[in-house]
Amino acid sequence: MVGLIALDLNPELLIQWYMIWELGFYSAPLQPFYMKPIEQIFPLLNQPRKIAIIMHQKPDADAMGSSLGLFHLLSQLGHSVTVISPTNWADWLKWMKGCEKVIDYEFNIEKANAILDDAEWAFCLDFNAMYRTRKMAAKLSTFTGIKILIDHHQQPEDESFTYGWSDVSKSSTSEMVYDMIKASGHGAKINRDIAECLYAGVMADTGSFRFPSATASVHRMVADLKDTGFDHTKIHENLFDNFLENRLRFIGYVLQSRMDIYYEYNTALISVPWKDLVKYQIKTGDTEGLVNYPLTIQGIRLAALIIDRDEEIKCSFRSKGDFDVNIFARTYFEGGGHINAAGGRSSDSLEQTVQRFIKAMKENASQLQ
Ligand code: 5GP
Ligand code: MN
Repeated sequence: MVGLIALDLNPELLIQWYMIWELGFYSAPLQPFYMKPIEQIFPLLNQPRKIAIIMHQKPDADAMGSSLGLFHLLSQLGHSVTVISPTNWADWLKWMKGCEKVIDYEFNIEKANAILDDAEWAFCLDFNAMYRTRKMAAKLSTFTGIKILIDHHQQPEDESFTYGWSDVSKSSTSEMVYDMIKASGHGAKINRDIAECLYAGVMADTGSFRFPSATASVHRMVADLKDTGFDHTKIHENLFDNFLENRLRFIGYVLQSRMDIYYEYNTALISVPWKDLVKYQIKTGDTEGLVNYPLTIQGIRLAALIIDRDEEIKCSFRSKGDFDVNIFARTYFEGGGHINAAGGRSSDSLEQTVQRFIKAMKENASQLQ
């Protein structure tokens, strides 16, 4: 034991290794598994393949935009490509070219499973942990093809992917798809369809180019995409001015009646019961952006949105400055994401989840100052 302490080795890890040895698996490699660099697939792109592109549940503009941008590129290269979403998606994404071909896994499970059975490759875009594909996760755990990750969230589940590129400094997965297209030598194939999808994804994930992630190279990419001739004003309208009256009335109502401010903790919480969603006929995508409103109040550093979606409680967190909501969501709400934007869930009741949030907020009092 003295020797172990002197070497500063983790005794628990050594016990695990000893058990593996004892069980006779001593020839198994003990190094951790890492994804192979994505560049290694570039030469393999020249041969036609059956490819599935998958994204996270309830896809946002970046998940859908990056997936469809890649879909158009790979289709041009002669591959047989299908995009699958684990769930349905917002109406305001339906203008994207190719969206009408995307398969909703929950709605068309047999067809989607048959495509996954047949696929040689599965590109996994804008998520880095399999549970984010919801019901598709079980199917993907038996997937025999190659899984390729392209994602910008924190702490990837490396062991789930054969090849991959995970970069938390990137504004969006759409930016990464653009970089990949250029790096693989196919930049000239970026046409207007690809450009519109990728632009939408980058715009959404950078808060219309206002977050620090909107670097000079993001703006250079946008200039390049814009040269394909699309109407960026129209794309902004498609994403942000494309709701029904009930959604705006709902936002007015919840800001008035369902928002609590904890000034002592520089925190705001909006909690929405299921009955509000029913009363205002809220659909997928209608609550997107709601969590950002409390951050417009002076001094608020943490905004939370807790929604009773009936099948589960969905949590969204946004922060300003260095309060890390990825860690917060991981620690308290089985979630994750980015430093300033993350999500999670709870299987408790809405009231219990709110109480847990308040307790967590208090535990983080010093970081919230
Ligand atoms: P939103 O609050 O808009 O659902 O998500 C904010 C960010 O966190 C997005 O980048 C989203 O992909 C990520 N995110 C949302 N929910 C989860 C979750 O349960 N786990 C992880 N790892 N990331 C999440
Ligand atoms: Mn994203």
